[in-house]
Amino acid sequence: MWEVPYNLIWTYDSSVSQPKIKLQGNEINITLNNTKFKLDKVFAAKWTRVLKLIIYDRLALRVQEINALTVKQPIEKIALKNNFSKWGSCSGQKLSFSLMLFFCSSAQIDYVIVHELCHLVHKNHSTSFWKLLGSFIPKYREIDQSLKFKSYKIGALLKFE
Ligand SMILES: [Zn+2]
Repeated sequence: MWEVPYNLIWTYDSSVSQPKIKLQGNEINITLNNTKFKLDKVFAAKWTRVLKLIIYDRLALRVQEINALTVKQPIEKIALKNNFSKWGSCSGQKLSFSLMLFFCSSAQIDYVIVHELCHLVHKNHSTSFWKLLGSFIPKYREIDQSLKFKSYKIGALLKFE
């Protein structure tokens, strides 16, 4: 889904007081002031902002497209969160998605979107919920499994202090 390849460019500059991240076209420029890089909360907040810039519009558009093809429910809000414990959530008519989707394939992203959209109809993981989901994505079990494994790997990789 994020067809445009983004290049990560790392630079070292001792004159900057804090690590910087800047999005320029298809480049994510990361400037570090220290060779001992620490993935701390300040850096995580900046990283979150850049990822949101890249992802939000396309994700929101995809949610609306899929909604029109599936459950056709009113959506009040679509949010993106730096959440490492779940891929998405649904509360009332508000949908929330994890920035971890940046690391996912189109099939996985579509699955997460359909999953949360089905929660607009069924607020639980009942048989009716899975039946509705399965009517749109027959192979949902396979994708669900691949996502469980993926979140575990990303979680292990990105542990912010
Ligand atoms: Zn669910």
